[in-house]
This record gives sequence, structure tokens and C-alpha cells, in this order.
Amino acid sequence: MRVAKFNPEGNISIVTAEMPVIENNEVLLRVSACSLCGSDLRPWRNGWPVTPGHEIVGVVESKNHPSIKLDALLIFQFGVASVTNV
Ligand SMILES: [Zn+2]
Repeated sequence: MRVAKFNPEGNISIVTAEMPVIENNEVLLRVSACSLCGSDLRPWRNGWPVTPGHEIVGVVESKNHPSIKLDALLIFQFGVASVTNV
């Protein structure tokens, strides 16, 4: 999969990363959109090589969760998730 990464030089690269393996009570999203906010400035300013963004909209592509359906639309913001089409 392709992800954005902050670089220590202060720019952003699009790189290839391993597809995550979902565990119990987790879902894998196909990300439709992801925003950046003030919380992302700290790792960027400090040159931490991380994937930014924690406010995400996506569609459930695979799941290991009993009550969330495939193709459900999920909105995730800083630890709180909202699901439609559960
Ligand atoms: Zn934020």
C-alpha cells in the first residue's frame, strides 16, 4: 500500500509499506481521505519519520470484528470511531 511519510528533511514522501494484518476486533480501511491538523506539526517539526494523520474517512475492506460490516463507511478521529451501515 502507499502511505505518506514525514522525512527528517522536512518534506513528505509517498512510499510503499507493508499491508497491516488485522487482529481481533479490528478492521482494515481503504482510506478515502485523511486530514492533517496541528497535532501533526510536532512530528513534522521534529523530523520524526512517521505517517501523519489521525482523522480518517474510509471504507471497511476487511474485518475481524463481529458487528462491523464490509463496505461500511467509517469516520475516525483521534481514538473515536463512527460507523455507518453497521
Ligand atoms: Zn487532529
